[in-house]
Amino acid sequence: MNTEIDNLVKSAAELISNSNYCIALTGAGISTESGIPDFRGPDGLWRKVNPEIATYSFFMKNSEKFWEFHLNFVKKFKEVKPNNAHYALVELEKMGFLKCIITQNIDGLHQAAGSKNVIELHGNLRTVSCISCGRKYRYEDVYMLIEQCGLPPKCIECSGVLKPDVVLFEEPLPYEAIMTAYTEAYKSDLILVLGSSLSVYPAATIPDIVKSNYGKVIIINLQNTEKDHLGDIVIYGRLGDILPKIVEQVKLNYK
Ligand code: NAD
Ligand code: ZN
Repeated sequence: MNTEIDNLVKSAAELISNSNYCIALTGAGISTESGIPDFRGPDGLWRKVNPEIATYSFFMKNSEKFWEFHLNFVKKFKEVKPNNAHYALVELEKMGFLKCIITQNIDGLHQAAGSKNVIELHGNLRTVSCISCGRKYRYEDVYMLIEQCGLPPKCIECSGVLKPDVVLFEEPLPYEAIMTAYTEAYKSDLILVLGSSLSVYPAATIPDIVKSNYGKVIIINLQNTEKDHLGDIVIYGRLGDILPKIVEQVKLNYK
């Protein structure tokens, strides 16, 4: 292994081994090795598609077009599997070091890998809700509604338009998720920031909370993030390579 990375891996493992309340904030970069493109990396979606399509106002004005885009988007998430980085976090949780994962991802891969305490800041791809009465639907039922009545899918109770339970631009984050994330950040003395450009708010404020409470920050990302200056340790590389090495080193420290 490259000695510089080797030393950073050792230092990161040391911080984790000595932490009292370690949490993780994950972004799209932890799932690229599972085959889901991120938004702002070199192959990111927003380099090909205008992000306006993911705004709440676009959804309200053009719900049919929005749903066409969304159905295409969801197809990419089907059959994807967790990768080594997701599994490394499961091990850290099982060893008792990692107390929770705050994720900006909607792919459900942390839970699929086996992580128990996951806070989803930007919603999920499990359910869809009626914007008028709030009734929830599973995707299987939505596909049936679309087959019968076309796009956009509408509520069988009140005919309101259905919206995926993902947070669109211009929408607030789910109250309980963001409040729990802030509470965890205030308790934390170490945060691992993994595969996030730290450019989407308010998620990007979470490392600031840990830092302002005298906690430590470890950032692992392929390229610079907007908050590398917060990092006590910053490692540039692939999470699927680096996280398992850190976990191995934590195990050695643990023995
Ligand atoms: P982002 O696209 O802004 O940044 C991802 C970062 O991860 C980039 O800086 C990139 O260099 C880095 N990266 C990519 N592959 C990596 C790897 N293998 N190892 C280490 N780093 C890697 O992502 P974000 O900060 O999460 O914000 C984007 C928004 O898009 C979020 O709100 C999220 O909800 C959503 N999103 C989610 C998914 C998903 O659920 N998997 C996918 C795309 C976008
Ligand atoms: Zn309804």
